[in-house]
Amino acid sequence: MIPQEFDYSAPTNLQEAFQLIADGERKVLAGGMSLIPLMKLRLATPEHVVDLGRVPDLNHIGDEGSVIHIGAMATHHDVETSAVIRARCPLLAETASNIGDVQVRNRGTLGGSIAHADPSADYPAALVALEGKIRIASAKAERTVPAAAFFLDPFTTALEPGELVVEVLVPAEAGSEGYRYEKLEHPASGFAIVGIAARIQKSGRGIAMARIGVTGLGPHAFRALETERLLESGAEMEKAVASLGEGEEANSDLYASADYRRHLARVHARRAIAVALTRAS
Ligand code: FAD
Repeated sequence: MIPQEFDYSAPTNLQEAFQLIADGERKVLAGGMSLIPLMKLRLATPEHVVDLGRVPDLNHIGDEGSVIHIGAMATHHDVETSAVIRARCPLLAETASNIGDVQVRNRGTLGGSIAHADPSADYPAALVALEGKIRIASAKAERTVPAAAFFLDPFTTALEPGELVVEVLVPAEAGSEGYRYEKLEHPASGFAIVGIAARIQKSGRGIAMARIGVTGLGPHAFRALETERLLESGAEMEKAVASLGEGEEANSDLYASADYRRHLARVHARRAIAVALTRAS
């Protein structure tokens, strides 16, 4: 349980951090909730750890009109308790409140969680349902990637070597929108065996807009596009929910087989949509 020897730097600005991660076997350290256990188990053996903890202004949370900007180093607790996020993007605050336990939420960061890209992490479901964007930067350039194109595979994202997540952008929700994050958590870790983020806008008796993000079921989070389409076209809930995960690769492990996970995803989708509908005005 002792990591391999490594060098440690704590840059005090972003440019310095970019220089330090430019080459070699380097890893940035955010909250350390995933990286440190991996290093202790020697599943990660970086030669150099670059701690982002002293880089200022990476944990800001603010709204600019219709978009909320959240710095990569905002902790899960910051996201859960931010007045801006609770008022203007409550789905994300609700999702953050479901992560791990209080210690994990106090140390773990939004940027670290999405960069780590655990297939059972909670944020990715909300970020794809919110059609959020990830702002990525390196010493040379900056780009913005839609959340749906950021999560590529288990522990694999669109980040290239030398790049950092600097900010997450989410649209401020329309006041009339209903939302819900529902998950079946693993009894030991709290990670999502399946997690469903739902956003619903009603029109009359129907559903004008449905966005359903899924985590835990497959190798990476995804939007349940067919379920959304069926909900928006007035199909019965059972039919819409039954389409979730159809034809999608599903994870299978000691806790839940692929078929059981698909079943769980549908059960939790039904629950998430039902709550989102009651919250939509
Ligand atoms: P770190 O551990 O510091 O880093 C993780 C990885 O991301 C490293 O590879 C690092 O180099 C990279 N990285 C960090 N920041 C950046 C950046 N800005 N740009 C590019 N790369 C970066 N998660 C859930 O979603 N749901 C849960 O229920 C849950 N339960 C947990 C329970 C326990 C007991 C523990 C220990 C963790 C749990 N987690 C859970 C994971 C937790 O959310 C972590 O906080 C998260 O996975 C990593 O965030 P971090 O800030 O700690 O990143």
